[in-house]
Amino acid sequence: MTYRQWLDVHSKKHKALVDALVLKNFTQEQIIEYFDFENMVKEENDFCFLYKENKKCHDIKSLNCYFCACPHFRFDDKGIQTKGQLTQYSFCSIHSKEGKQGIFGNSIHQDCSNCKVPHAKEYVKKHLSFQP
Ligand code: SF4
Repeated sequence: MTYRQWLDVHSKKHKALVDALVLKNFTQEQIIEYFDFENMVKEENDFCFLYKENKKCHDIKSLNCYFCACPHFRFDDKGIQTKGQLTQYSFCSIHSKEGKQGIFGNSIHQDCSNCKVPHAKEYVKKHLSFQP
């Protein structure tokens, strides 16, 4: 599965869940709370394959999953540019200090494994444009 395919599937699932919560009259604050990892594991176990193992994608105490797909992640499945033998496929638009470019074979990918930026509740509150 390409990143684009994953993102399309994920975005549909994410929208369907938010729409369902809005129908239940959840406020924006309540929706953000709902996306806390512990709650999602309990209430939405099919949402992410890691929930089945109660496993976090990042080792963060308070992990919020609302921005699972980080708004700063830029990618092109066909490649953004080539650097010698290497092809770059993704990067971070804000050059977060917590992320880095990783080399995997002949590919360069943005490695977000140590980045907490989009998973903090305060960040989600600040960047969420949706209005219930
Ligand atoms: S490094 Fe952090 S801010 Fe940048 S794309 Fe990855 S998760 Fe988002």
